[in-house]
Amino acid sequence: MAGKMKGAFLYKPGEIRIEEMDIPTPKDDEALIRIKAVGVCGSDVHFFEVGRIGDFVVKEPLILGHECAGEVVEVGKAVRNVKVGDKVAIEAGVPCRKCEYCKRGRYNLCSNVTFLATPPFHGAYREYITHPEDFLFKLPENMTYEEGAMIEPLSVGTYAAERGGVNVRNTVAIIGAGTIGLMTLQAVKARGVTDVIITDLEPFRLEIAKKLGATQTVNAREDDAVQKILEYTNGGADVVLEAVGSPATIQQSIKMAKPGAIIVLIGMPTVDDIPIRVVEAICKEVDIRGIFRYANAYKPAINLVSKGKIDVKSMITTRFPLDKVQEALEYPSKHPGTCIKVMININ
Ligand SMILES: [Zn+2]
Ligand SMILES: [Zn+2]
Repeated sequence: MAGKMKGAFLYKPGEIRIEEMDIPTPKDDEALIRIKAVGVCGSDVHFFEVGRIGDFVVKEPLILGHECAGEVVEVGKAVRNVKVGDKVAIEAGVPCRKCEYCKRGRYNLCSNVTFLATPPFHGAYREYITHPEDFLFKLPENMTYEEGAMIEPLSVGTYAAERGGVNVRNTVAIIGAGTIGLMTLQAVKARGVTDVIITDLEPFRLEIAKKLGATQTVNAREDDAVQKILEYTNGGADVVLEAVGSPATIQQSIKMAKPGAIIVLIGMPTVDDIPIRVVEAICKEVDIRGIFRYANAYKPAINLVSKGKIDVKSMITTRFPLDKVQEALEYPSKHPGTCIKVMININ
């Protein structure tokens, strides 16, 4: 499908320009997708505000956006999994499929990943994108494109619960009720857990957490989060899921863990070195586990939404069209008290 389309390019920190570009042509194993919905992620906002995340630096104008879904409009000649007209969620990272990690199924650890909106690869704030068919997931009839776009952050939540070995016997503490914290909360609930406590600084987010099934909420601005969690759990949580990534909350995660607990660090800190209470961690025999994105998570996540086990819709608080990507990226920092997920709707 030759022709031109619009894309939103980050030129420098704080400046997006909408420009025309060629509609890409799918390779044999790729599909061309008309993007319908793309979420605004914390990482998009960070790239927009600062122009880099760690070693990933925006050197050339870059299209952001990696939480996306759309309609298949053309397929390469070797494509078998999807067809024209299919509604699909697009898995943002495509690994090499050949290395040790890929073969073991832990392809998120592959060192050769093409990830949308991570320099030098363009993301999805544009009208069309090409993507390999094995990283496209068909959405059932009862799901919307916006719900399809929410599968990316939900995959982080379900994968975090999996890494935490969360099961029905556990009392679980979640630090942070942003998109990822709320996704993690629902993933934990879907595993049959009855006691989930969540902390945040914003009352608005804690309200939503309550609606989505949190048994207790702690406003960490008013109360000592560690003390409250120790109180509610009678001595510590079996699993602590850290979804903020600040030095203070990472330190808290060890203090609110029960001896023998599993701590999952989901939030990505902006500094490399954070002092933690190592002696406490050792003596409590806690398992501290990192998680990096997700692997094999899209299919189960789509199922959970389609079967009504997880509600991703009530996290979408604001919507913008493609022409307003600049405003959409400015929005979360300007409205921390009322914003959870900003969605870009295209076409
Ligand atoms: Zn994201
Ligand atoms: Zn690989």
